Amino acid sequence: KLDQSQLKAFENAAAGHDGVLSDPSGELIIKPCVDAEINFYQETLNLHPDFSEMMPTFMGTLSLGSPAQVAAPTAAHEPAELSQESKDQQLLHGAKIATKTAIVLENLEHGFKRPNVLDLKLGARLYAPGTSDDKAARLDKVASETTTGSLGFRIAGMKVYNPEKSDFDIYDKFYGRQFTSSNVISGFETFFSGLSSGLKAEEAQELLETILAEITKARHMLEKYESRMFSASILVVYEGDSSELGVLMGSEPKTPRVDERAPTRLEVKKSLEEEEEEEALPPVAFKVKMIDFAHAGWTPGEGRDENVIAGLKGVEGCMDQLIARFD
Ligand code: ADP
Ligand code: MN
Repeated sequence: KLDQSQLKAFENAAAGHDGVLSDPSGELIIKPCVDAEINFYQETLNLHPDFSEMMPTFMGTLSLGSPAQVAAPTAAHEPAELSQESKDQQLLHGAKIATKTAIVLENLEHGFKRPNVLDLKLGARLYAPGTSDDKAARLDKVASETTTGSLGFRIAGMKVYNPEKSDFDIYDKFYGRQFTSSNVISGFETFFSGLSSGLKAEEAQELLETILAEITKARHMLEKYESRMFSASILVVYEGDSSELGVLMGSEPKTPRVDERAPTRLEVKKSLEEEEEEEALPPVAFKVKMIDFAHAGWTPGEGRDENVIAGLKGVEGCMDQLIARFD
């Protein structure tokens, strides 16, 4: 159950609009969104549950603004009904109740000590059919001036932990717009610079290979299904705390052995309990998920989404280049 008065601003986004919230535990994000995005999450669970695994876990919806309308985000069939309900409420009460539907999602940064985040906006074409000429022209212009046009993706934003200042370096949307197809790799190098301090070359390579494999998995699904996604992103998160990353990738022992005596029964019980807790939420070295589905849909009969598939191939090409640098 979510108490709306307890929600706080989510200040760790790598890109995008303001207004994203988080719950007190930080496990969830609450993002104001259009009904189309909620519908896409819902439909994906029903039509292509395997692709749902490439998305943040969908927990439900929430009507922001009016505490009386807080609904428990739970069962899979509820969200569509809830948004209809909130629409009805708006009709009933006119403009007086300023509600906005939000989607409740797994916070992909949760569980990391220092989440480094990279938002890669996919597609050379970033607007759906029917978009106004004005907006289309504006987006085409940005595309032609950035790697969006040449590689089918661009760096939309990123945050990278900087141990020297004990804080994150923030790279906004203008940072990613400067790159060309021949130097965008340096953006990837900046994002993955944390690997060199925490890991051996072969561990860094292994992590990059695993991240690449997830991206390829997403592409293979989109090659199998029929969809259209405009302005969706692939979000890469990895552990920016270098000693934690070392532990996660297995180069440092988790608990240094200080004595060799046999554990007492109490110690055995405790460590079993701890293991159980850890099994519920094991820390991971990275996450790769697709996000931002305001203009996305499953579109049977229209063929595969070559626009996004090409973008994912572009990203995979950069990852390949980066992996080769660790040889
Ligand atoms: P928009 O770009 O339309 O504002 P996005 O869905 O792209 O909305 O979200 C904006 C930013 O919020 C992303 O760049 C990402 O950093 C962050 N974000 C979005 N969804 C999640 C999530 N489930 N977990 C963590 N961060 C997220
Ligand atoms: Mn976005």
